[in-house]
Amino acid sequence: MKVHEYQAKELLGKAGVAVPAGIVVTTAGEAAKAYEALGGGLVVVKAQVHAGGRGKGVAVGPEVDRAEALAIASGEKPRPDGMAKGVQLVKSAAEAEKAAASMLGKTLVTYQTGAEGQAIKKVLITVGHDIARELYLGVAIDRNLKRPVVMATTEGGVEIEKVAEETPEKILREPVDVGLGLMDFQARRICKGLGLTGATAKKGVVFLKNFVKFVLESDASLAEINPLIVTDKGDVLALDCKLNFDDNAMFRHKDLAGLVDEDEEDPSELRAARSGLSFVSLDGDIACLVNGAGLAMSTMDLIKYHGGEPANFLDVGGGADKDQVLEAFRILLSSPKVNAVLVNIFGGIMQCDIIAKALLAAYDEIDFRVPLVVRLEGTNSELGKELLEKSGRKIITAVGLTDAAQKVVAAAKRHVA
Ligand code: GDP
Ligand code: MN
Repeated sequence: MKVHEYQAKELLGKAGVAVPAGIVVTTAGEAAKAYEALGGGLVVVKAQVHAGGRGKGVAVGPEVDRAEALAIASGEKPRPDGMAKGVQLVKSAAEAEKAAASMLGKTLVTYQTGAEGQAIKKVLITVGHDIARELYLGVAIDRNLKRPVVMATTEGGVEIEKVAEETPEKILREPVDVGLGLMDFQARRICKGLGLTGATAKKGVVFLKNFVKFVLESDASLAEINPLIVTDKGDVLALDCKLNFDDNAMFRHKDLAGLVDEDEEDPSELRAARSGLSFVSLDGDIACLVNGAGLAMSTMDLIKYHGGEPANFLDVGGGADKDQVLEAFRILLSSPKVNAVLVNIFGGIMQCDIIAKALLAAYDEIDFRVPLVVRLEGTNSELGKELLEKSGRKIITAVGLTDAAQKVVAAAKRHVA
Protein backbone atom coordinates (compact mmCIF):
# COMPACT_ATOMS: atom_id res chain seq x y z
CA MET A 1 0.00 0.00 0.00
CA LYS A 2 1.29 3.43 -0.96
CA VAL A 3 0.55 6.73 0.73
CA HIS A 4 0.97 10.34 -0.35
CA GLU A 5 3.92 12.48 0.63
CA TYR A 6 1.78 14.62 2.96
CA GLN A 7 0.54 11.51 4.77
CA ALA A 8 4.06 10.08 5.02
CA LYS A 9 5.34 13.34 6.50
CA GLU A 10 2.53 13.45 9.05
CA LEU A 11 3.42 9.92 10.17
CA LEU A 12 7.13 10.69 10.32
CA GLY A 13 6.56 13.92 12.23
CA LYS A 14 4.60 12.01 14.88
CA ALA A 15 7.44 9.48 15.10
CA GLY A 16 9.98 12.19 15.93
CA VAL A 17 11.51 12.49 12.47
CA ALA A 18 12.23 16.07 11.36
CA VAL A 19 9.98 17.17 8.49
CA PRO A 20 9.03 20.65 7.22
CA ALA A 21 5.64 21.97 8.37
CA GLY A 22 2.91 21.73 5.76
CA ILE A 23 -0.80 21.97 4.95
CA VAL A 24 -2.57 19.91 2.30
CA VAL A 25 -5.23 21.70 0.21
CA THR A 26 -7.63 21.00 -2.65
CA THR A 27 -8.27 24.52 -3.99
CA ALA A 28 -6.06 27.43 -5.08
CA GLY A 29 -7.80 29.75 -2.58
CA GLU A 30 -6.87 27.45 0.28
CA ALA A 31 -3.28 27.45 -1.01
CA ALA A 32 -3.05 31.22 -0.54
CA LYS A 33 -4.42 30.92 3.00
CA ALA A 34 -2.02 28.06 3.76
CA TYR A 35 0.89 30.24 2.58
CA GLU A 36 -0.03 32.87 5.18
CA ALA A 37 -0.68 30.27 7.88
CA LEU A 38 2.83 28.88 7.37
CA GLY A 39 4.31 32.31 8.04
CA GLY A 40 5.24 33.36 4.51
CA GLY A 41 8.79 33.45 3.13
CA LEU A 42 9.95 30.58 0.93
CA VAL A 43 7.15 28.03 0.49
CA VAL A 44 6.94 24.95 -1.77
CA VAL A 45 3.78 23.85 -3.60
CA LYS A 46 3.83 20.12 -4.36
CA ALA A 47 1.46 17.92 -6.38
CA GLN A 48 0.27 14.90 -4.36
CA VAL A 49 0.31 11.82 -6.58
CA HIS A 50 1.75 8.36 -5.96
CA ALA A 51 4.78 8.93 -8.17
CA GLY A 52 8.18 10.57 -7.99
CA GLY A 53 9.98 12.78 -10.47
CA ARG A 54 7.47 15.56 -9.81
CA GLY A 55 10.12 18.27 -9.75
CA LYS A 56 10.93 17.56 -13.39
CA GLY A 57 7.38 16.50 -14.26
CA VAL A 58 4.77 18.54 -16.11
CA ALA A 59 1.20 19.35 -15.03
CA VAL A 60 -0.88 19.37 -18.20
CA GLY A 61 -4.48 19.75 -19.30
CA PRO A 62 -6.30 17.55 -21.82
CA GLU A 63 -5.08 19.73 -24.72
CA VAL A 64 -1.45 18.61 -24.33
CA ASP A 65 -0.22 15.47 -26.11
CA ARG A 66 0.79 13.01 -23.37
CA ALA A 67 3.65 11.40 -25.28
CA GLU A 68 5.11 14.89 -25.79
CA ALA A 69 4.61 15.62 -22.06
CA LEU A 70 6.47 12.43 -21.14
CA ALA A 71 9.36 13.34 -23.44
CA ILE A 72 9.63 16.73 -21.69
CA ALA A 73 9.35 15.19 -18.18
CA SER A 74 12.09 12.69 -19.06
CA GLY A 75 14.38 15.44 -20.33
CA GLU A 76 14.34 14.18 -23.92
CA LYS A 77 12.72 17.37 -25.19
CA PRO A 78 13.22 20.97 -24.00
CA ARG A 79 10.60 22.33 -21.62
CA PRO A 80 8.52 25.09 -23.21
CA ASP A 81 8.15 28.33 -21.20
CA GLY A 82 5.22 28.40 -18.81
CA MET A 83 4.70 24.65 -18.60
CA ALA A 84 3.91 23.95 -14.93
CA LYS A 85 6.11 21.61 -12.85
CA GLY A 86 4.81 19.32 -10.09
CA VAL A 87 7.00 21.03 -7.46
CA GLN A 88 7.16 24.84 -7.43
CA LEU A 89 8.94 27.27 -5.09
CA VAL A 90 6.93 30.42 -4.29
CA LYS A 91 7.47 33.61 -2.28
CA SER A 92 4.00 35.15 -1.88
CA ALA A 93 0.39 34.12 -1.28
CA ALA A 94 -0.47 35.15 -4.84
CA GLU A 95 2.31 32.95 -6.24
CA ALA A 96 1.16 30.04 -4.05
CA GLU A 97 -2.35 30.44 -5.40
CA LYS A 98 -1.10 30.57 -9.00
CA ALA A 99 1.13 27.51 -8.52
CA ALA A 100 -1.71 25.50 -6.96
CA ALA A 101 -4.05 26.53 -9.80
CA SER A 102 -1.47 25.35 -12.34
CA MET A 103 -1.58 21.84 -10.81
CA LEU A 104 -5.03 21.15 -9.34
CA GLY A 105 -7.37 19.45 -11.80
CA LYS A 106 -4.47 18.80 -14.17
CA THR A 107 -2.64 15.57 -14.92
CA LEU A 108 0.94 15.19 -13.73
CA VAL A 109 3.23 13.38 -16.15
CA THR A 110 6.63 12.30 -14.80
CA TYR A 111 9.18 9.72 -15.92
CA GLN A 112 7.56 7.42 -13.31
CA THR A 113 3.88 7.82 -14.28
CA GLY A 114 4.33 7.03 -17.97
CA ALA A 115 2.44 8.95 -20.65
CA GLU A 116 -0.90 8.33 -18.96
CA GLY A 117 0.03 10.54 -16.00
CA GLN A 118 -1.89 10.89 -12.75
CA ALA A 119 -4.69 13.27 -11.78
CA ILE A 120 -3.69 15.98 -9.28
CA LYS A 121 -6.45 16.34 -6.69
CA LYS A 122 -4.44 17.67 -3.77
CA VAL A 123 -1.38 19.86 -3.31
CA LEU A 124 0.88 20.14 -0.29
CA ILE A 125 1.87 23.65 0.76
CA THR A 126 5.03 23.34 2.81
CA VAL A 127 7.69 25.56 4.39
CA GLY A 128 10.68 25.92 2.07
CA HIS A 129 14.24 25.55 3.30
CA ASP A 130 17.62 26.69 2.03
CA ILE A 131 19.53 23.58 1.05
CA ALA A 132 23.19 23.27 2.02
CA ARG A 133 23.44 19.58 1.07
CA GLU A 134 21.12 17.07 -0.61
CA LEU A 135 21.50 13.48 0.66
CA TYR A 136 19.59 10.24 0.13
CA LEU A 137 18.25 7.88 2.78
CA GLY A 138 16.21 4.74 2.27
CA VAL A 139 15.22 1.50 3.95
CA ALA A 140 14.38 -1.55 1.84
CA ILE A 141 14.08 -5.25 2.53
CA ASP A 142 17.16 -7.20 1.45
CA ARG A 143 15.83 -10.65 0.65
CA ASN A 144 19.27 -12.26 0.63
CA LEU A 145 20.14 -10.92 4.08
CA LYS A 146 16.54 -11.48 5.22
CA ARG A 147 16.42 -8.12 6.94
CA PRO A 148 15.86 -4.43 6.27
CA VAL A 149 18.89 -2.51 5.07
CA VAL A 150 19.43 1.20 5.54
CA MET A 151 20.90 2.76 2.43
CA ALA A 152 22.39 6.23 2.42
CA THR A 153 24.43 8.28 0.02
CA THR A 154 25.74 11.79 -0.40
CA GLU A 155 24.38 11.69 -3.96
CA GLY A 156 20.90 12.93 -3.04
CA GLY A 157 18.34 14.62 -5.24
CA VAL A 158 19.15 12.43 -8.26
CA GLU A 159 17.67 9.06 -9.11
CA ILE A 160 19.04 6.44 -6.72
CA GLU A 161 18.84 3.76 -9.43
CA LYS A 162 21.38 5.77 -11.40
CA VAL A 163 23.76 5.99 -8.41
CA ALA A 164 23.37 2.24 -7.78
CA GLU A 165 24.29 1.52 -11.39
CA GLU A 166 27.08 4.00 -12.03
CA THR A 167 28.74 4.49 -8.63
CA PRO A 168 27.53 1.68 -6.33
CA GLU A 169 30.49 2.26 -4.00
CA LYS A 170 28.92 5.57 -2.98
CA ILE A 171 25.96 3.84 -1.33
CA LEU A 172 26.45 3.07 2.37
CA ARG A 173 24.57 0.04 3.66
CA GLU A 174 23.67 -0.95 7.23
CA PRO A 175 21.66 -4.14 7.74
CA VAL A 176 19.19 -3.79 10.62
CA ASP A 177 18.44 -6.45 13.21
CA VAL A 178 14.64 -6.27 13.49
CA GLY A 179 14.76 -7.10 17.19
CA LEU A 180 17.37 -4.51 18.12
CA GLY A 181 16.60 -1.77 15.60
CA LEU A 182 19.30 0.52 14.29
CA MET A 183 22.10 0.54 16.87
CA ASP A 184 23.79 3.80 17.95
CA PHE A 185 27.10 2.80 16.39
CA GLN A 186 25.38 2.09 13.09
CA ALA A 187 23.60 5.45 13.10
CA ARG A 188 26.91 7.18 13.88
CA ARG A 189 28.66 5.25 11.12
CA ILE A 190 26.05 6.36 8.56
CA CYS A 191 26.29 9.99 9.72
CA LYS A 192 30.08 9.86 9.42
CA GLY A 193 29.78 8.35 5.95
CA LEU A 194 27.44 11.16 4.96
CA GLY A 195 29.96 13.73 6.20
CA LEU A 196 27.78 15.03 9.03
CA THR A 197 29.74 16.55 11.93
CA GLY A 198 29.16 18.18 15.32
CA ALA A 199 25.61 19.19 16.20
CA THR A 200 24.37 18.15 12.74
CA ALA A 201 25.67 14.61 13.26
CA LYS A 202 23.82 14.44 16.59
CA LYS A 203 20.61 15.50 14.84
CA GLY A 204 21.35 12.94 12.14
CA VAL A 205 21.59 10.12 14.69
CA VAL A 206 18.21 11.02 16.24
CA PHE A 207 16.69 11.32 12.77
CA LEU A 208 18.03 7.91 11.66
CA LYS A 209 17.05 6.05 14.81
CA ASN A 210 13.49 7.42 14.86
CA PHE A 211 13.11 6.84 11.12
CA VAL A 212 14.21 3.20 11.28
CA LYS A 213 12.09 2.61 14.40
CA PHE A 214 9.05 3.94 12.53
CA VAL A 215 9.81 1.75 9.49
CA LEU A 216 10.04 -1.39 11.62
CA GLU A 217 6.97 -0.65 13.74
CA SER A 218 4.76 0.27 10.79
CA ASP A 219 5.80 -2.71 8.61
CA ALA A 220 6.90 -0.38 5.83
CA SER A 221 8.20 -2.38 2.88
CA LEU A 222 9.93 0.64 1.36
CA ALA A 223 10.80 3.99 2.86
CA GLU A 224 12.71 6.59 0.92
CA ILE A 225 13.77 10.14 1.72
CA ASN A 226 15.11 11.86 -1.36
CA PRO A 227 16.34 14.41 -0.71
CA LEU A 228 17.32 14.30 2.94
CA ILE A 229 18.70 17.76 3.39
CA VAL A 230 21.11 19.60 5.61
CA THR A 231 19.90 23.20 5.88
CA ASP A 232 22.15 26.25 5.97
CA LYS A 233 21.53 26.26 9.75
CA GLY A 234 22.80 22.69 10.12
CA ASP A 235 19.40 21.04 10.58
CA VAL A 236 18.63 17.64 9.09
CA LEU A 237 15.21 17.42 7.38
CA ALA A 238 13.16 15.07 5.17
CA LEU A 239 12.28 17.25 2.19
CA ASP A 240 10.47 14.46 0.37
CA CYS A 241 9.25 11.07 1.53
CA LYS A 242 7.91 7.95 -0.11
CA LEU A 243 6.43 5.14 2.00
CA ASN A 244 4.99 1.76 0.99
CA PHE A 245 3.45 -0.55 3.56
CA ASP A 246 3.20 -4.32 3.47
CA ASP A 247 -0.41 -5.16 2.52
CA ASN A 248 -0.19 -8.42 4.44
CA ALA A 249 0.53 -6.52 7.66
CA MET A 250 -2.43 -4.13 7.36
CA PHE A 251 -4.49 -6.20 9.79
CA ARG A 252 -2.36 -4.86 12.61
CA HIS A 253 -2.30 -1.28 11.36
CA LYS A 254 -5.95 -0.27 11.17
CA ASP A 255 -4.89 3.39 11.44
CA LEU A 256 -2.71 3.11 8.33
CA ALA A 257 -5.32 1.24 6.29
CA GLY A 258 -7.47 4.39 6.42
CA LEU A 259 -4.78 6.32 4.53
CA VAL A 260 -5.30 4.47 1.25
CA ASP A 261 -6.30 6.76 -1.63
CA GLU A 262 -8.63 4.72 -3.83
CA ASP A 263 -8.23 7.23 -6.67
CA GLU A 264 -4.63 6.06 -7.02
CA GLU A 265 -5.35 2.33 -7.06
CA ASP A 266 -6.16 0.09 -10.02
CA PRO A 267 -10.01 -0.14 -10.02
CA SER A 268 -10.01 -3.86 -10.90
CA GLU A 269 -7.56 -4.65 -8.10
CA LEU A 270 -9.78 -2.79 -5.61
CA ARG A 271 -12.88 -4.65 -6.81
CA ALA A 272 -11.12 -8.00 -6.49
CA ALA A 273 -9.87 -7.18 -2.99
CA ARG A 274 -13.48 -6.47 -1.92
CA SER A 275 -14.49 -10.01 -2.96
CA GLY A 276 -11.52 -11.62 -1.24
CA LEU A 277 -9.71 -12.33 -4.53
CA SER A 278 -6.20 -11.30 -5.39
CA PHE A 279 -5.87 -9.68 -8.75
CA VAL A 280 -2.82 -8.23 -10.47
CA SER A 281 -3.10 -6.13 -13.60
CA LEU A 282 -0.40 -6.55 -16.28
CA ASP A 283 0.24 -5.27 -19.81
CA GLY A 284 -0.63 -8.17 -22.15
CA ASP A 285 -3.93 -9.52 -23.56
CA ILE A 286 -4.42 -12.98 -21.97
CA ALA A 287 -6.44 -13.06 -18.75
CA CYS A 288 -5.56 -15.83 -16.27
CA LEU A 289 -7.80 -17.35 -13.63
CA VAL A 290 -5.88 -19.70 -11.36
CA ASN A 291 -5.91 -21.11 -7.86
CA GLY A 292 -2.69 -20.45 -5.98
CA ALA A 293 0.14 -17.97 -6.47
CA GLY A 294 2.69 -20.57 -7.56
CA LEU A 295 0.36 -21.84 -10.25
CA ALA A 296 -0.18 -18.21 -11.35
CA MET A 297 3.56 -17.74 -11.83
CA SER A 298 4.07 -20.94 -13.82
CA THR A 299 0.96 -20.21 -15.92
CA MET A 300 2.33 -16.82 -16.87
CA ASP A 301 5.78 -18.26 -17.57
CA LEU A 302 4.28 -20.79 -19.97
CA ILE A 303 2.13 -18.17 -21.72
CA LYS A 304 5.19 -16.02 -22.27
CA TYR A 305 7.26 -19.03 -23.33
CA HIS A 306 4.71 -19.77 -26.04
CA GLY A 307 4.73 -16.21 -27.36
CA GLY A 308 1.82 -14.64 -25.45
CA GLU A 309 1.57 -11.87 -22.84
CA PRO A 310 -0.61 -12.08 -19.70
CA ALA A 311 -3.13 -9.23 -19.24
CA ASN A 312 -3.59 -10.01 -15.56
CA PHE A 313 -3.92 -12.87 -13.16
CA LEU A 314 -6.62 -13.56 -10.68
CA ASP A 315 -6.03 -15.99 -7.86
CA VAL A 316 -9.27 -17.44 -6.53
CA GLY A 317 -7.39 -19.17 -3.71
CA GLY A 318 -8.13 -22.51 -2.19
CA GLY A 319 -11.90 -22.60 -1.94
CA ALA A 320 -13.70 -20.29 -4.33
CA ASP A 321 -17.50 -20.47 -4.43
CA LYS A 322 -19.70 -19.82 -7.45
CA ASP A 323 -20.26 -16.13 -6.63
CA GLN A 324 -16.53 -15.57 -6.39
CA VAL A 325 -15.93 -17.33 -9.70
CA LEU A 326 -18.62 -15.16 -11.31
CA GLU A 327 -17.12 -11.98 -9.91
CA ALA A 328 -13.66 -13.20 -10.95
CA PHE A 329 -14.77 -13.53 -14.59
CA ARG A 330 -16.52 -10.16 -14.54
CA ILE A 331 -13.30 -8.52 -13.33
CA LEU A 332 -11.15 -10.36 -15.88
CA LEU A 333 -13.44 -9.49 -18.77
CA SER A 334 -13.99 -5.86 -17.72
CA SER A 335 -10.67 -4.90 -19.31
CA PRO A 336 -11.04 -4.12 -23.03
CA LYS A 337 -7.47 -5.29 -23.71
CA VAL A 338 -8.31 -8.94 -22.94
CA ASN A 339 -8.38 -11.17 -26.07
CA ALA A 340 -8.61 -14.60 -24.42
CA VAL A 341 -9.08 -16.15 -20.99
CA LEU A 342 -7.18 -19.10 -19.57
CA VAL A 343 -8.62 -20.94 -16.60
CA ASN A 344 -5.95 -23.10 -15.02
CA ILE A 345 -7.11 -24.92 -11.91
CA PHE A 346 -5.48 -27.62 -9.90
CA GLY A 347 -8.17 -29.44 -7.98
CA GLY A 348 -6.75 -30.70 -4.73
CA ILE A 349 -9.27 -30.34 -1.94
CA MET A 350 -11.53 -28.67 -4.47
CA GLN A 351 -12.93 -31.15 -6.97
CA CYS A 352 -12.72 -30.47 -10.72
CA ASP A 353 -16.32 -31.45 -11.46
CA ILE A 354 -17.52 -28.83 -8.98
CA ILE A 355 -15.29 -26.24 -10.62
CA ALA A 356 -16.59 -27.26 -14.03
CA LYS A 357 -20.18 -26.73 -12.86
CA ALA A 358 -19.30 -23.29 -11.48
CA LEU A 359 -17.61 -22.47 -14.79
CA LEU A 360 -20.64 -23.52 -16.80
CA ALA A 361 -22.95 -21.48 -14.58
CA ALA A 362 -20.65 -18.49 -15.01
CA TYR A 363 -20.54 -19.05 -18.76
CA ASP A 364 -24.31 -18.70 -18.98
CA GLU A 365 -24.43 -15.54 -16.87
CA ILE A 366 -21.53 -13.68 -18.40
CA ASP A 367 -20.98 -12.47 -21.90
CA PHE A 368 -17.82 -14.28 -22.97
CA ARG A 369 -16.81 -11.99 -25.82
CA VAL A 370 -13.44 -13.75 -26.11
CA PRO A 371 -12.29 -17.39 -26.33
CA LEU A 372 -12.12 -19.37 -23.09
CA VAL A 373 -9.52 -22.09 -22.60
CA VAL A 374 -9.83 -24.37 -19.57
CA ARG A 375 -7.35 -26.77 -18.06
CA LEU A 376 -8.50 -28.77 -15.05
CA GLU A 377 -6.12 -31.09 -13.27
CA GLY A 378 -6.40 -33.13 -10.09
CA THR A 379 -9.32 -34.71 -8.28
CA ASN A 380 -12.15 -35.72 -10.69
CA SER A 381 -10.43 -33.98 -13.60
CA GLU A 382 -11.82 -36.43 -16.19
CA LEU A 383 -15.34 -35.84 -14.97
CA GLY A 384 -14.84 -32.07 -15.06
CA LYS A 385 -13.46 -32.12 -18.58
CA GLU A 386 -16.32 -34.31 -19.77
CA LEU A 387 -18.89 -31.91 -18.31
CA LEU A 388 -17.30 -29.00 -20.19
CA GLU A 389 -17.02 -30.88 -23.48
CA LYS A 390 -20.58 -32.18 -23.37
CA SER A 391 -22.04 -28.81 -22.41
CA GLY A 392 -22.17 -27.55 -25.98
CA ARG A 393 -20.65 -24.21 -24.93
CA LYS A 394 -17.73 -22.79 -26.83
CA ILE A 395 -15.12 -23.79 -24.27
CA ILE A 396 -11.70 -25.02 -25.40
CA THR A 397 -10.40 -27.73 -23.08
CA ALA A 398 -6.72 -28.48 -22.64
CA VAL A 399 -4.62 -31.26 -21.15
CA GLY A 400 -1.51 -30.12 -19.31
CA LEU A 401 -0.02 -26.69 -18.94
CA THR A 402 1.86 -26.62 -22.25
CA ASP A 403 -1.25 -27.55 -24.24
CA ALA A 404 -3.26 -24.91 -22.35
CA ALA A 405 -0.67 -22.18 -22.96
CA GLN A 406 -0.35 -23.00 -26.66
CA LYS A 407 -4.11 -23.06 -27.12
CA VAL A 408 -4.76 -19.76 -25.34
CA VAL A 409 -1.93 -17.95 -27.19
CA ALA A 410 -3.34 -19.19 -30.52
CA ALA A 411 -6.92 -18.30 -29.49
CA ALA A 412 -5.91 -14.74 -28.54
CA LYS A 413 -4.15 -14.28 -31.90
CA ARG A 414 -7.19 -15.58 -33.80
CA HIS A 415 -9.45 -13.26 -31.81
CA VAL A 416 -7.39 -10.21 -32.82
CA ALA A 417 -7.32 -11.28 -36.47
P1 GDP B 1 10.19 14.61 -6.60
O1 GDP B 1 10.76 15.32 -7.79
O2 GDP B 1 8.85 14.02 -6.89
O3 GDP B 1 11.13 13.62 -6.02
O4 GDP B 1 9.89 15.76 -5.50
P2 GDP B 1 10.83 16.37 -4.35
O5 GDP B 1 10.01 16.59 -3.15
O6 GDP B 1 12.06 15.55 -4.16
O7 GDP B 1 11.21 17.80 -4.92
C1 GDP B 1 11.95 17.96 -6.10
C2 GDP B 1 13.05 18.99 -5.93
O8 GDP B 1 12.50 20.25 -5.57
C3 GDP B 1 14.02 18.68 -4.82
O9 GDP B 1 15.01 17.76 -5.21
C4 GDP B 1 14.59 20.06 -4.50
O10 GDP B 1 15.65 20.34 -5.40
C5 GDP B 1 13.43 20.98 -4.79
N1 GDP B 1 12.84 21.41 -3.52
C6 GDP B 1 11.83 20.80 -2.85
N2 GDP B 1 11.60 21.42 -1.66
C7 GDP B 1 12.51 22.43 -1.58
C8 GDP B 1 12.80 23.43 -0.59
O11 GDP B 1 12.21 23.53 0.49
N3 GDP B 1 13.81 24.29 -0.86
C9 GDP B 1 14.52 24.22 -2.03
N4 GDP B 1 15.51 25.11 -2.21
N5 GDP B 1 14.28 23.30 -2.98
C10 GDP B 1 13.28 22.42 -2.76
MN1 MN C 1 12.15 13.35 -4.29
